[in-house]
Amino acid sequence: MVAKIQMQAPLVEIDGDEMTRVIWQYIKDILLTPHIDLKTVYYDLRLKKRDESDDRITVEAAEATKKYGVAVKCATITPNAQRVKEYNLKQMWKSPNGTIRAILDGTVFRAPIIVKNIKPFVKTWEKPITIARHAYGDIYKGVEMKVETGGMAEIVFTGEDGQQMREVIHEFAGPGMIMAMHNLDQSIASFARSCFNYALDQKQDLWFATKDTISKKYDHNFKDIFQDIFDAEYREKFSEAGIEYFYTLIDDAVARVIRSPGGFIWACKNYDGDVMSDMVATAFGSLAMMTSVLVSPDGFYEFEAAHGTVTRHYYQYQKGEETSTNPVATLFAWTGALRKRGEMDGADRLAQFAGVLEEAAIDTIEAGIMTKDLALLAAGDKKVVTTREFLEAVNARLGQSLCEHV
Ligand code: NAP
Ligand code: MG
Repeated sequence: MVAKIQMQAPLVEIDGDEMTRVIWQYIKDILLTPHIDLKTVYYDLRLKKRDESDDRITVEAAEATKKYGVAVKCATITPNAQRVKEYNLKQMWKSPNGTIRAILDGTVFRAPIIVKNIKPFVKTWEKPITIARHAYGDIYKGVEMKVETGGMAEIVFTGEDGQQMREVIHEFAGPGMIMAMHNLDQSIASFARSCFNYALDQKQDLWFATKDTISKKYDHNFKDIFQDIFDAEYREKFSEAGIEYFYTLIDDAVARVIRSPGGFIWACKNYDGDVMSDMVATAFGSLAMMTSVLVSPDGFYEFEAAHGTVTRHYYQYQKGEETSTNPVATLFAWTGALRKRGEMDGADRLAQFAGVLEEAAIDTIEAGIMTKDLALLAAGDKKVVTTREFLEAVNARLGQSLCEHV
């Protein structure tokens, strides 16, 4: 019997909804509390609790993340009209992830978990590609207009001092449409710092790409802000870490990404990140094998799975059926948070435990024991198991490795 691993500072534990809430408890019961003296500050963000607290609980969880530095979050329901009825809500509360992201001013990094028996669709990819998506502005805060006749479209900026700048967009001879969008130097700078910090953290190269040859002011400003911050604050640190920052055109980046072996971070503007993260996730295999971490420019971390609450499986579970829902991304949210906690506190056994647990999960899948979603993708022999059976198989391997390593 190995002594339980101790924690110094706690993790902020943000619980959530539906099937992922069930998995959350399984992970704690089967894989964590038997081995760690788990210390957390607990926030229950299930929809009912958000409604009861007028969503204050979400803000409190984000504030706690700032206080303690590391959080792990379960997937949560973002209510729509149907959920308002289902849960009899006071109002259609905003996405908790959006609220937390706004408070932490963070950037989301998404990376696939790779196993040998599931081959990416792109043959050259051997290591994960992490996408960092800027989460503010551009077309997501765009203002659009459809015009039905000929006429003149102009863009006007009125400064605080009343001075105006004006550009003709187009002299329309007939119907068409117009869009205006914006971004903020301060938001781009936060994004850049989050990316540089995360690259140093992961010891991976950072790529950034826009279309600055065409967009000589807008995209060029992104490029300049990244370059200025890199030169002033990060160039030396990158060279000490033996990693590289490089900027290229978005079309060149796409071609290089496809030919690369992976193993780097790709920073994307808001729309590019939206599209490319779905492309990369699909090409690597499965959303159930994608992790996601929110990194603030001040160095706070919030770990979660990239998928949602897996509602369809939850309705089966409620009928008393055992489901074969993949818990790996949620498990890796926990291990990511535990490793980061260990690194921040100099608690080596805790950080090591996270690594050994990740290996046990990957080895289990590579040995052919997996949930239904992966069985559709994996090569070789496989045995489909329920979520609980999978976690118990991981624990059997974990027990052996812990005796040997931690
Ligand atoms: P979802 O929960 O990701 O599930 C979509 C489908 O993908 C599932 O029905 C399932 O397919 C498959 N899937 C996803 N994760 C899986 C896993 N771990 N194991 C096995 N299969 C998995 O997305 P959704 O159905 O669009 O959204 C459900 C709820 O989640 C919504 O209320 C939404 O607001 C919320 N959501 C939350 C977050 C977050 O908190 N980060 C993110 C996205 C969505 P099959 O049914 O075919 O097996
Ligand atoms: Mg998308």
